[in-house]
Amino acid sequence: MPRKSWRPGSNNNPWEKMPCHRAPGTGRALAEVVRRRYNHSVVFPTGYPMSMTLGQLQQRIRDLYGEKDSRRGVEGTFMWFMEEVGELSAALRGGSPEEQTLEFADVLAWLVTLANCSGVDLDEAIARKYGTGCPGCAQTPCVCLREYKP
Ligand SMILES: [Mg+2]
Ligand SMILES: [Zn+2]
Repeated sequence: MPRKSWRPGSNNNPWEKMPCHRAPGTGRALAEVVRRRYNHSVVFPTGYPMSMTLGQLQQRIRDLYGEKDSRRGVEGTFMWFMEEVGELSAALRGGSPEEQTLEFADVLAWLVTLANCSGVDLDEAIARKYGTGCPGCAQTPCVCLREYKP
């Protein structure tokens, strides 16, 4: 199987012909179903977006772990998040580039999980706080005094 990505509309995608890549009960390619759901054109062979907006990532994590997450709740999830922050710290100190990369993914995934558990829309949060400039000085790039946050 080729590992390179493909675009919708190409009818020669071998992944879509595999039974495991068809959406259950619909007979349609999983990629097509997910493409509609996420409104995203470039997808993994499994059908999930290759590059995601924050909202798409939040939905992806919800699809993957939503039920478990709501059972675990904010407190338990926060503990896992902090554990992953610790793993990122260790990887940055002495891990390989590959280990560092994957720990960034873990920390981001658990932060998104925490937002899901707390009912926070990350797209909206980032847009509101950082969408129009630095929260301190409202400029891009930031021109806050160096003593304020070096
Ligand atoms: Mg980890
Ligand atoms: Zn600033």
